[in-house]
Amino acid sequence: MAIYKTILAAIDLTEEADQIINRARDLCGIHQAELILIHVVEPVGYAYGGDIPMDLTELQDQLDKSAREQLAAFGKSHNIADNNLMVTVGRPESEIHRVCEERGVDLAVVGSHGRHGIQLLLGSTANGVLHGAKCDVLAVRLS
Ligand code: AMP
Repeated sequence: MAIYKTILAAIDLTEEADQIINRARDLCGIHQAELILIHVVEPVGYAYGGDIPMDLTELQDQLDKSAREQLAAFGKSHNIADNNLMVTVGRPESEIHRVCEERGVDLAVVGSHGRHGIQLLLGSTANGVLHGAKCDVLAVRLS
């Protein structure tokens, strides 16, 4: 029985991304769902705490461009339509929540490194996506 109509795979553009996309694609096959691929570029201002007075627009544009190129390459190798590839700027958790609502996503697929101890206390993107999501969330254990 098809439960999910639109599945979103969130990737950080590392080589681990293929594991997330493959799982999402398998689920799309089972549910005959549409697949959306997203990468969120974090604002460079975050890294500097916003307290250094310099124009970071050009650097941000370069990061966006590079992210779009890398996402396009993932899209091409996994046969995902260009209009289902999204690059946005912001905090990954909140952008993933926003896009899920905007695009009517039923299932968000993210990777999980299975952190424990102090790393778990510090949190992770998978945790952040799970908390506050209005759709189902699948955390794919990355190997
Ligand atoms: P992390 O908590 O950084 O280890 O990331 C865990 C998972 O969150 C990744 O495997 C991705 O599914 C997702 N993720 C992390 N960063 C981003 C990002 N910038 N854009 C989209 N998804 C991300």
